[in-house]
Amino acid sequence: MMLEVNIDRIMNNIETICEFNATPGQGYTRFSYSKEDMQAREFLINECQEFGLKVTTDGVGNIRAKLEGLDPQAPSVMSGSHIDTVYHGGKYDGLVGAIGALEAIRTIIENGIKTLNSLEFVVFSEEEGSNFGSTLAGSKAMVGYYGVDDLKKLKNPLGISMYDMAKRAGYDPDKVTHQVLKHGEVKAMLELHIEQSIVLESKNIPIGIVEAIAGMQAFEIVLKGVANHAGATPMSLRNDPMATAAKIMAHIEDLAKITPSGSTVATVGRIFCEPNISNVIPENVLFTLDARDVDNRILNQFVSDVRQKLIDESALHGVSSNMHFLGSSDAIILDKLTVELLENEAKARNIPFMRMNSGAVHDSSILSAVTKAGMIFIPSVNGRSHVPEEDSRYEDIELGCNMLLGSLLKLAM
Ligand SMILES: [Zn+2]
Repeated sequence: MMLEVNIDRIMNNIETICEFNATPGQGYTRFSYSKEDMQAREFLINECQEFGLKVTTDGVGNIRAKLEGLDPQAPSVMSGSHIDTVYHGGKYDGLVGAIGALEAIRTIIENGIKTLNSLEFVVFSEEEGSNFGSTLAGSKAMVGYYGVDDLKKLKNPLGISMYDMAKRAGYDPDKVTHQVLKHGEVKAMLELHIEQSIVLESKNIPIGIVEAIAGMQAFEIVLKGVANHAGATPMSLRNDPMATAAKIMAHIEDLAKITPSGSTVATVGRIFCEPNISNVIPENVLFTLDARDVDNRILNQFVSDVRQKLIDESALHGVSSNMHFLGSSDAIILDKLTVELLENEAKARNIPFMRMNSGAVHDSSILSAVTKAGMIFIPSVNGRSHVPEEDSRYEDIELGCNMLLGSLLKLAM
């Protein structure tokens, strides 16, 4: 018999935390440092303390709860996720991985198993970027990407900084740089997460083992033409930024479908037009491009092809154009040995699995800078996430948590 988690306790814990919700009846809203978030933290910390874990929180409220191993000098094996949500978000994003990790450690304790390495349950603050518009802020602070000055610069729509919000919540953000996770402190970090896409469900496979996390590049494309009468201006005499934008957008879609990696995704999610009147050729058009791939080289090539198309079409239509860089993150290849360890666990438990990429970024991408990171995905019903309808099947949650438990044990024994 292989060790198994208590799925009823997991589902109960998820229900309990989902009651800490700022928008009852309209999905789940639990922003970092909000009243609901603090209630959820209190619940989790109490639970950790009841099981004898040593709980610490850093300057931005990242929680680390440690079960000491037989060799306290050996690096910890870490697992967890985030408990914050987007506005009107779902039940399982983050929470499944947090409760799954807690449950794995509880199961190990209840079965009287002593691991060589310490086990650490981790909860990252502000993963979603819901307060400050910057995703993964907690894990970035944990590995030292964000220092005190950065925390002061990150502001919510009311102008309150992450530094001040952490302070109001009772943390000491001035200490964050001294609490940075060091290389060698953690042997491995495993994160269980919902897939947030439809690949697993469409293949009817309950477990995804993540090999790579896509990198992202975001731009704002600005086109300026000449506004004029929609009836009186002949087609050959126009400087139409909307027609230009349409050509570029069509090209973005066509190109993304045929890149050599086969994993490029590109989205134009926002468009703005001036004067935005049905019988006037527009003067200004602005649209965004969000492009992602697990291969940085191919992503760079894709973006430069789009840039060339922008230059060509702008010249053809007689409009001026600019492509402003908004932000980027590099693609991350996860540790190969950890991928194999997760595969072996799935095989040992007779759980169907597939290797896959993650289109979304996760705290584990950030942690991979200082430790070996691995991720387990479970299917999202209808592939939906960040919406109230976000759902995962009870049986899949159980399989995912058992995968996590077994893999953590292998890493820590
Ligand atoms: Zn998440």
